[in-house]
Amino acid sequence: MQALPPGSTIDILGGGQLGRMLILAAARLGFKCRVYTDVVGPACDVAEGSMIGAFDDAAKLEAFADDVDVITYEFENVPLPAVAAAERIKPVRPGPKSLEASQDRLVEKRFIWQLNVPVAPFAAIDSQVDFDTAINAVGLPAILKTRRLGYDGKGQVRITNAAELASAYDEIGRRAAVLEAVVAFACEVSVLVVRNAAGETRFYDIALNHHKGGILRSSTVPSDLQLPHLVRARQIAEQIATALNHVGVLAVEMFHVGGDSAEPLIVNEIAPRVHNSGHWTIDACQVSQFENHIRAVVGWPLGATDRHSDVQMNNLIGVDAHDWRRLAAEPGVSLHLYGKAEARPDRKMGHFTRLKPRSSDG
Ligand code: AMP
Repeated sequence: MQALPPGSTIDILGGGQLGRMLILAAARLGFKCRVYTDVVGPACDVAEGSMIGAFDDAAKLEAFADDVDVITYEFENVPLPAVAAAERIKPVRPGPKSLEASQDRLVEKRFIWQLNVPVAPFAAIDSQVDFDTAINAVGLPAILKTRRLGYDGKGQVRITNAAELASAYDEIGRRAAVLEAVVAFACEVSVLVVRNAAGETRFYDIALNHHKGGILRSSTVPSDLQLPHLVRARQIAEQIATALNHVGVLAVEMFHVGGDSAEPLIVNEIAPRVHNSGHWTIDACQVSQFENHIRAVVGWPLGATDRHSDVQMNNLIGVDAHDWRRLAAEPGVSLHLYGKAEARPDRKMGHFTRLKPRSSDG
């Protein structure tokens, strides 16, 4: 793959904060970015240009693709036919296989399971009658998740007893779903791997993630996982990235079940893009997840993923962001705000990191 020279233009599909941080990293290397999005978002503020259009408007996407050198995305719900249309004009990285495997929870779970990588027991739900078989296969407690368009715990209902089944299905709008066993995990971790077109991979240290209400609140590195578990987590991420022929950053979220289990890690989900649990890499690594994604996409050598400090990243959610004055004044805090006007509940408004001297490998 020919490396794109500085001055080339990258199209980012999606206008959120991940796009914004990708653009800032790309700008540092001399690239220009344009954004294609269905709603104006934080990425538009820093892009060279943006086009507002529906993601299923293949003709508009194709026209947009004409003016750029390479296309990437900051969210995984771009319809596949639209990506295929854009790809006829310019390369899309990561490729459609990565998108396909991550935008439908059933496809995702089957794909990972077929790689012999552990996932929670699951069953497909397409109708009310599927429930009985699914409950027998999966057991209770379980989580009912819509197959598509769920994020940050949206489109999910926890079921603890059979009486809750019917209402749970109503709650998710009777949409195609997956019923998944609740995993009794000790903690949640994520692995961020970056892979280039030649198949070279580099890993960031594994983050220990704390969620509340299905939304990521903080990521801490190092994670304190034992070395064999760190090695296994990386192995799993590498296997998935390779099977997808992924180019760019891939995030693999896992449950760590702890103890002496033969399989200490169970994959929850993958994201074919930069990820919230990797925001700490901006402040604690030589080359951030955002820059490395751009490097992979434009065919540059991958950058060093080494971490120079221990770090905790905290999300600013909703009115948390009103605390910006105090955080801006606190020594040792790196503050990142996404420029969103309205601090709605559950809305990711920004994040901040605190660094400490590096204690151990992660
Ligand atoms: P998800 O949208 O699948 O990432 O789920 C959001 C959060 O819900 C996860 O980070 C977990 O904290 C929790 N969760 C999701 N699936 C499961 C599961 N099968 N067992 C236990 N907790 C889960």
